[in-house]
Amino acid sequence: MAALSIIHGDITKQKVDAIVNAANSSLLGGGGVDGAIHRAGGPAILAECVEIRNRQGGCKTGEAVITNAGRLPSKKVIHTVGPVWKDGTNNEEGLLYNCYVNSLHLAVEHALLSIAFPNISTGIYGYPKVSAANTAIRAVRDFTDSNFGKIKAIVFVCFDEENYELYTQILEPAS
Ligand code: ADP
Repeated sequence: MAALSIIHGDITKQKVDAIVNAANSSLLGGGGVDGAIHRAGGPAILAECVEIRNRQGGCKTGEAVITNAGRLPSKKVIHTVGPVWKDGTNNEEGLLYNCYVNSLHLAVEHALLSIAFPNISTGIYGYPKVSAANTAIRAVRDFTDSNFGKIKAIVFVCFDEENYELYTQILEPAS
């Protein structure tokens, strides 16, 4: 079973094999965690995003692509595109679930053993935080249950206090 942990902090500081970016489908950068990753990582990440975009036309919602990590302390950045929350009837939950599972599959394909996730879609994309946390944890648990031992450590990096408390309550209900 992969160790699942929660950190209250900044994903760009994480020394893991892969950090996940909550990107947008253009792969050309944006605000929030996407902006923070490109700022801290430098231009090499964006250059590879542009190559991918030229090759395959960006990244669809729920899917994931992988690039170098520039100056970041991680080895790779996995860019996934979360759903924009509308009203919950547009398969938002399925698409968010796919972001986590597809990122984990990509990590395994690249022999990356530790991975850090931000709280995908819960910023600019407006996904309700409680539902997003439950879906994220369900996706990660489903993945680790059926891919035993392939990933050693999964970290949920919560930037805001509300998400940190939510994840703590779901994963460590006694505390
Ligand atoms: P989205 O468009 O998928 O909603 P955002 O970047 O707006 O993406 O927000 C996703 C989550 O990332 C939010 O919970 C936000 O608080 C968080 N976030 C913003 N900056 C960072 C950072 N440096 N490290 C980790 N998480 C971050």
